[in-house]
Amino acid sequence: MCRSRSSSRTPLCLIAFLLSAVLLSVPGCGTSSLRLPLNRPSLEPFREYEQQPSTGGPVEARFLGATSVLFQDGETAILSDGFVTRPGLLRVLLGRISPDRERIQNTLTRLGLDSIVAVFAGHSHYDHALDAPVFAQLTGAVLLGSPSTANIGRGVGLADSALRVVGDGEVLRFGKFELTFLESVHSPGDRYPCTVDEPLVPPARSSAWRTGTTYSVLIRYEGRTILVHGSANYKPGALRGRRVDVIYLGIGTLGRQSDAFVDAYWDEVVRATGAKRVILVHWDDFFRSLDQPLRPMPYAMDSFADSMQHILRRATADGVEVLLPVPWQPTDPFTGLP
Ligand SMILES: [Zn+2]
Repeated sequence: MCRSRSSSRTPLCLIAFLLSAVLLSVPGCGTSSLRLPLNRPSLEPFREYEQQPSTGGPVEARFLGATSVLFQDGETAILSDGFVTRPGLLRVLLGRISPDRERIQNTLTRLGLDSIVAVFAGHSHYDHALDAPVFAQLTGAVLLGSPSTANIGRGVGLADSALRVVGDGEVLRFGKFELTFLESVHSPGDRYPCTVDEPLVPPARSSAWRTGTTYSVLIRYEGRTILVHGSANYKPGALRGRRVDVIYLGIGTLGRQSDAFVDAYWDEVVRATGAKRVILVHWDDFFRSLDQPLRPMPYAMDSFADSMQHILRRATADGVEVLLPVPWQPTDPFTGLP
């Protein structure tokens, strides 16, 4: 347990920030090129990178916004994060949040799923771990993650038999899927660091979902490998020697980092693993429902266009394909790869 500065911050700071952002913003110019705090870059220049639906491979992946991805092969389903409640910004800043069970059930219905074998949380912030335990509860899955994630599971009444704390390098098998958990580092500027040390019973302030351990998760399937690397940071050398085909690469807040940082991130995660396809995640505005089209985060939080330009430059030089996933649609993550 440790106390972060954010826990003692009064909402007045947040209100002042929001007011200044609104005052500085231009009404009706949601995608203006003016870099005012509540404006945001347009997705339009990057539409050509949108991933097309594809089926036929042994593994089907469905993106559910932020870092949430469902992987299934017809027998076994594995879920990364599964954050679909996506409460609005004002509620997150000033109110208390809870998993939206109806929305989670509707997600399962829409995906045609009644059983998931494992749900893993990349770390324990609410945009990764708010809904994961409820997905586990509704589908009989085991919830995988840090001790903090286990306490979030206990807070919604998940039995200890459905909780599994995973260590660095631990390998777990589910059907034909083999998962390896590798400790990583949260993206710079972590607002809610530290750990969740007791069962976290919602509703609670969003700041109660503290980071815990951050993982990069290798998913092996019949000789192919996917890396789910949700948080845009790295542990130097941690991925060296790991061969990967496809990376679900987190780019949240990357647009605010220095060129040197983005280059190092690319080198340590993409180059180090030899991946030939990166599917970018954690770039969408997760204060907005998944029922609406995705849009990038406002400039107050990130600059998606800057991230894209830098990543596209590195990807072109290294012969790596860049894709932007589209929610809900079925995709074969390995399609077209040699
Ligand atoms: Zn986080």
